[in-house]
Amino acid sequence: MDLLKKRIEEVGDVVSDGVLRLDSILNHQVDPDLIMAMGREFAVRFKSSNPTKVVTVESSGIPIAFATALELGVPLIFARRKKSVTISEHVYEERVPSFTKGIVTDIVIAQKYLNEEDRVLIIDDFIANGDAARGLVRIVEKSGAELVGIGIAVEKSFQNGGHSLRELGIKVESLAKIASLTDGKIVFES
Ligand code: 5GP
Repeated sequence: MDLLKKRIEEVGDVVSDGVLRLDSILNHQVDPDLIMAMGREFAVRFKSSNPTKVVTVESSGIPIAFATALELGVPLIFARRKKSVTISEHVYEERVPSFTKGIVTDIVIAQKYLNEEDRVLIIDDFIANGDAARGLVRIVEKSGAELVGIGIAVEKSFQNGGHSLRELGIKVESLAKIASLTDGKIVFES
């Protein structure tokens, strides 16, 4: 998606060889026009598989997932990061390492919002090692719903998340693929 690549070139802040900061458009301040364009693009790419729910995990995936859900005309569910140690019987729960925070968090979705009649599109802002996406995939599996695919705004293709999910036969679509962040330079995959 050329518009996203252009904005990444303009505002992307390379924090290290492995991390890109997009705080002015995606991860802190949010650019609504860009987010809505991403939602339209995901809707085009996944509409034919008739999703009934869009699923993401809080917090940075929410605006893009919302835009996608709005465009598809279906609800958005965002998995919540559980802060309490009490475990409800009525949630699907998965333990997920956080790439940016360096900690492990438990993510939960209430069972009443996801069931075997659903067709789920997972949306997230970045994919690195794929832990967040895999956690959501496992929650979808537990619910009995069908996974129609995964839409990612920025795939860092020098990390293994996207590849490993495609190897499982999952349709993974990313709007910008970054081949390298070495030496502070953003190099897109052609
Ligand atoms: P993964 O679970 O695939 O290793 O990492 C994905 C999650 O970590 C995303 O939900 C995103 O919030 C965060 N993340 C991973 N890499 C980056 C990055 O380079 N920049 C930012 N801002 N977030 C990232």
